[in-house]
Amino acid sequence: MRIDIATLFPEMCEAVLSESIIGRARKSGAIEVHCHNIRDYTLDKHRRVDDTPYGGGMGMLMQAEPVYRCWTAVCEMLGTKPHSIYLSPKGSVLTQEKTVSLSKQENLFLLCGHYEGIDQRVLDKIIDEEISVGDYVLTGGELPALVLTDAVARMCHGVLPSAVCFEEESHFNGLLEYPQYTRPEVWEGEAVPEVLLSGHHLKISQWRQQKSIEITQEKRPDMYALWLAEQKKSET
Ligand code: SAM
Repeated sequence: MRIDIATLFPEMCEAVLSESIIGRARKSGAIEVHCHNIRDYTLDKHRRVDDTPYGGGMGMLMQAEPVYRCWTAVCEMLGTKPHSIYLSPKGSVLTQEKTVSLSKQENLFLLCGHYEGIDQRVLDKIIDEEISVGDYVLTGGELPALVLTDAVARMCHGVLPSAVCFEEESHFNGLLEYPQYTRPEVWEGEAVPEVLLSGHHLKISQWRQQKSIEITQEKRPDMYALWLAEQKKSET
């Protein structure tokens, strides 16, 4: 998979994407991520990319032309139109299900807004969907683009050691993850649940499933209700 991020702050994205698991996955070639500075695509001699909104109002708006020229350059580099996403508080809220489906795309183009946002005309022309990272407003689309890149990339082949690493995690199957423990066996007087030391794989797996159900019911009754409905549906 290749992800192209269009931003006014490529260094901010590179700093995060060069570290840890995603940094190593980029080095090994398991995923490709490229950050593009939208400012490099302005035709303005002062490298301006924003202007005041028509109709008045607070703040500045990113202009259509530099964004369009950046997207066109990426399309030319790829030789195809990537699935193009605008990170926006007006978009549908990102879920694990969505990240699974996005991880099957060959190319993603992520557009980060700043200031008051971006001229609607270029969004109408190039964007396939808008995605939000939650019902609150941030100063820019860089953190949301990094969140989306991380969540999608970790499901791409070769990024994590095996699919089990993410398939058993919270949200993948509609439940939250069971509690986990590591050495020492007793810490501050608290012992690790005995079943986890038993070496009995079936019992461990049953314990984990039960804990997942209990934790989901307690922490996310909304998720639990959906999971329960799915179980009932599959039983009939
Ligand atoms: N004026 C816009 C509105 O009210 O919908 C908000 C603009 S926000 C200050 C600047 C940029 O940050 C947006 O263009 C978007 O790219 C990004 N952004 C802010 N909050 C976001 C969120 N919850 N999810 C995704 N992107 C967000």
